[in-house]
Amino acid sequence: MNNHELFQRARQLMPGGVNSPVRAFKSVGGEPFFTARADGAYLWDVEGTRYIDYVGSWGPMIVGHNHPHVREAVERAVRDGLSYGTPCPAEVTMAETIVRLVPSVEMVRMVNSGTEATMSAIRLARGVTGRGKIVKFEGCYHGHGDSFLVKAGSGALTFGVPTSPGVPKAAADLTLTLPYNDLDAARILFAEHGADIAALIIEPVAGNMNCIPPAEGYLQGLRELCTKHGALLIFDEVMTGFRVALGGAQAHYGVTPDLTTFGKIIGGGMPVGAYGGRRELMEQVAPAGPVYQAGTLSGNPVAMAAGLAMLELVQAPGFHEALAARTRLLCDGLQAVADGEGIPFSTNRVGGMFGLFFAAGTVTSYVQATAADTALFNRFFHGMLKRGVYLAPSAFEAGFVSSAHSERDIADTLQAAREAMREAKGR
Ligand code: PMP
Repeated sequence: MNNHELFQRARQLMPGGVNSPVRAFKSVGGEPFFTARADGAYLWDVEGTRYIDYVGSWGPMIVGHNHPHVREAVERAVRDGLSYGTPCPAEVTMAETIVRLVPSVEMVRMVNSGTEATMSAIRLARGVTGRGKIVKFEGCYHGHGDSFLVKAGSGALTFGVPTSPGVPKAAADLTLTLPYNDLDAARILFAEHGADIAALIIEPVAGNMNCIPPAEGYLQGLRELCTKHGALLIFDEVMTGFRVALGGAQAHYGVTPDLTTFGKIIGGGMPVGAYGGRRELMEQVAPAGPVYQAGTLSGNPVAMAAGLAMLELVQAPGFHEALAARTRLLCDGLQAVADGEGIPFSTNRVGGMFGLFFAAGTVTSYVQATAADTALFNRFFHGMLKRGVYLAPSAFEAGFVSSAHSERDIADTLQAAREAMREAKGR
């Protein structure tokens, strides 16, 4: 069975042939490949082609694919059954681990995806504040909950449908949006609506409009605004958690949110999310408190085993420093290649997370990110794919380096980039 045949079958059976939009390659054109297996820094498709993978299942695979420590933990857990529907010991260890690693989290609730985590966090924020409005940022993505599909990033940005049909106007009206990295705009919004705002939710390093780090002092400024107006500050650390630093972006930037949402790495590749925060807030969640939220498979023993094994690995001394150094090697190398080819290009990176822009100068805003040359990116993407390097199939996604990417992998990537850039600009 080859990639094309599988995609033809898939398209008859699933919307767009996929179970999550960006996978379909709609933004970059062409057809996706179907992965048969993955190991370390590599994916192999059903035709046996190997790719150096900078997507890492969109974030979870921070130690590379199929790491033996994670795999063996899952194998052990599976022998004891797949799901109990009662509490299990691994949930307690997981909660202890998160509380120990993430500065602002005193209590936590496990869920099954990043989307569930963010939806639950804003319900809690609304429940405890008694207010209805939430604030999000243009180009930030927090999953597909109704409240978040307003000027959203990721697939919603790629496809140019910032507000999806099916989101009731009444729900969208409660979501106020702001430009990322513009503190004055936030001050003006809070001056007008502050008393109605339950929470402000932000990706502390934006990763769904390509990768845009927060400006110096920006997160601190938002913290002060939220405190002043009695709104909760929610850091969506689904991407940044355990990646940009062991304690996430809040540890990296030294800013304390009220609530935090997690996903990806915390599940080690299994479908897991979580939200947590200050004790008196989390004690409002059912059954301790009145804010209802539940999940049949939440805290699943196999998923907890995978996540815990992954979190053990990222606690190795020097893990994040090494990841950041490797990411820097990649970004500096790509910059040198682009400079050599005379192509306007820049990169952003925080820890093991990076963004590539076909644009001159540092990109710090959504407006700049969306003004970059996406046609050139799309040609570059396909040039890289042809040479066995898999970048995120959209100009508006962050890339991820794992600890399994070797210097040799980076060197091979840069060699491919030299050829792909030459080819891409030639057209
Ligand atoms: N928040 C952020 C910052 C994300 O990047 C994502 C997914 N990429 C989500 C939330 C939603 O997570 P999930 O896809 O697991 O629902």
